[in-house]
Amino acid sequence: MEKFRALIFVFLIFFISGCGKKEYSRVEFLMDTVVEIKVYHRSKAEAEEAINSSMEEMRRVEQKMSYFLPGSEVSRINKEALLEKRKGSLLAEGWIPVSDELFSLLKESVLLSELTKGCFDVTIYPLWKIWKFEGENLEVPDEKEIEKELQLIDYKNIIIENGKIKFVKRGMGIDLGGIAKGYAVDAAVSVLKKKNITSAMVNAGGDMYVLGRKQGKPWRIGIRHPRREGEILGTIKVEDKAIVTSGDYERFFFSEGKKYHHIINPKTGYPADECQSVTIVAKEATFADGLATGIFVLGPQEGMALIENLEGVEGVIVSKEGDISVSSGLGSKIEHVD
Ligand code: ADP
Ligand code: MG
Repeated sequence: MEKFRALIFVFLIFFISGCGKKEYSRVEFLMDTVVEIKVYHRSKAEAEEAINSSMEEMRRVEQKMSYFLPGSEVSRINKEALLEKRKGSLLAEGWIPVSDELFSLLKESVLLSELTKGCFDVTIYPLWKIWKFEGENLEVPDEKEIEKELQLIDYKNIIIENGKIKFVKRGMGIDLGGIAKGYAVDAAVSVLKKKNITSAMVNAGGDMYVLGRKQGKPWRIGIRHPRREGEILGTIKVEDKAIVTSGDYERFFFSEGKKYHHIINPKTGYPADECQSVTIVAKEATFADGLATGIFVLGPQEGMALIENLEGVEGVIVSKEGDISVSSGLGSKIEHVD
């Protein structure tokens, strides 16, 4: 009887700690980045089916939210806004219908703009178009052009109402590049959960979510060093959390010896230069993504104050000088390797 009890106990520990699960993973190129999904599960067939469906879900989000793909909903909105600019009365008073999904993402974007004093701004599109950051021989746009487009950037100038939106100024447009990757990660995690996966990681080029625990222990996630490639600043132990980093090393070009990267300050029209990287730990990747981009522009002092004020949000900021600040709730959880 004693032996039998001991055996049951061993089995219980085995299952509770999740040790009966095997790792299944896949890497694909999506949303202009490397996406990895890792799942710990007992059944290979179920794990693979779940990975297939969540990759598919991310592809669906990309098809909808990309400003770059001509058939996406975001592109349709930007096109309609331009038609509106040319023909004036083509759309009923300039209202553009949007899907429920995009509607809620735009609402969340506005909330993030309010939190970050307009440093995160989805109406960045006209500026983004002239900076490009794609192709070869990239150049800094003309100062006058930047000044002109700057007039069109202001999240307060999109009216969002009952499944439709309206731009107050002609020539405005939206770019969800600062939040859509996080949204795609959350959407992928939802699919995994629906497929009964309880231990997984979804990583879209630094926008990450970890579901449950990894083989019975919290996940250990490395935070990339913004200046030393292949090195990390430290590791954090997390479960059921999004970990999202915005850095100035993702997309950039040099012109006359100066580096120009892809996070634009909506107030100046030029790349934000207060931070090297911002990592946000939060409940959802959508929010973490937008917040990381916004705080990157807001800067280390105000940014850290905002993190400390937000319930359930932690973060690590590397300032332009390379100084590292860690939010109070993360202090005990981070292991420095630096
Ligand atoms: P990454 O895509 O490297 O993870 P971010 O999440 O910080 O980086 O998003 C940068 C993208 O967001 C840019 O490629 C651009 O599409 C858009 N963007 C740039 N500046 C801003 C801003 N101030 N507010 C909102 N979106 C921005
Ligand atoms: Mg972002």
